[in-house]
Amino acid sequence: TFKAIVARKTESGQTIALEQVDNSFLPAADVTVDVAYSTLNYKDGLALKGLGRILRTFPMAPGIDFAGTVRASENPAFAPGDAVVLTGWGVGENWSGGFSERARVKGDWLVKLPAPLTPRLAMAIGTAGFTAMLCVMALERHGITKGGEVLVTGAAGGVGSIAVRLLSRLGYRVVALTGRPQEADFLTALGATEIMDRAVMQEAGKPLQSERWAGVVDTVGGTILANAIAATASEGAVAACGLAGGTDLPTSVFPFILRGVCLMGVNSVDASKARREEAWSRLARELTEADLASLTQEVALEDVPGLADAILAGKVRGRTIVRV
Ligand code: NAP
Repeated sequence: TFKAIVARKTESGQTIALEQVDNSFLPAADVTVDVAYSTLNYKDGLALKGLGRILRTFPMAPGIDFAGTVRASENPAFAPGDAVVLTGWGVGENWSGGFSERARVKGDWLVKLPAPLTPRLAMAIGTAGFTAMLCVMALERHGITKGGEVLVTGAAGGVGSIAVRLLSRLGYRVVALTGRPQEADFLTALGATEIMDRAVMQEAGKPLQSERWAGVVDTVGGTILANAIAATASEGAVAACGLAGGTDLPTSVFPFILRGVCLMGVNSVDASKARREEAWSRLARELTEADLASLTQEVALEDVPGLADAILAGKVRGRTIVRV
């Protein structure tokens, strides 16, 4: 048997508890993994609280990402002992996930960890860091200029903080938008050249504002995303990946038709295998162990249910690694 945080359906909603379960708890698939680490993402917060209809099958372990070593494999691409990482594919949503000592998934969903990443470092990055890299790759595909400034919203969160680190490492000037001015030193250490108070972008603004951003990584949506689009410079691009501030987008066509601004959606859940392998190999190259140490805290599996409220309230700084 092994330990897992188990979500069970009840008449009024769901229960979450640490339980001892056996292999029959796991879905049928070709690769079984001994999970070493998982992480806490915003989506996990929603899942643990039964919000946003994230969990679709019961009973199951939440946890949308994990890293560990292959325990058993019927897939020729994987052998016992291989270090692997999983993000997305609906794991932790409609398939039992990473808040469990053991997971069983389709080999096609797994990526072999590129050196020098260990399972712990891979989870310091996690879905959030992987998504940050997909946003950076989207801006690069668009060809944004290095001379201009790039805005990162929700900068002190998981996706935001890694986006700040990656963009500054790649030579962009990064402006970090945060609702937590007390995190200014943290963001400056990650490479932000300027810290902006979230309040200045929270009120609805004009549909076209003075051109400032060569690129934007947005994790919050809503009015802040609308203002970011309105202040994006001619031919600039905005990579939108999140909804921490709202799901609406009160914008107009003007930035698109008068400035050629490009709005790029980023979806980490169904990203292709090729894009995943590219993103993980770049993350392995461009982030150091010291970078990751500065933006992570580690908690035990038992602590996870108690942290759901904090991440949904935007009170978690950087990344939270879960030791499984
Ligand atoms: P997180 O660690 O909670 O970060 C979110 C950050 O957003 C917070 O730290 C806070 O940053 C800011 N924020 C929170 N509430 C806000 C509000 N009401 N208005 C404006 N800003 C607010 O979460 P995460 O794991 O980084 O995820 C960030 C977002 O990306 C989430 O919406 C998540 O669902 C989404 N996401 C999407 C994908 C994808 O595939 N598209 C993948 C991963 C994550 P400050 O304190 O610095 O302001």
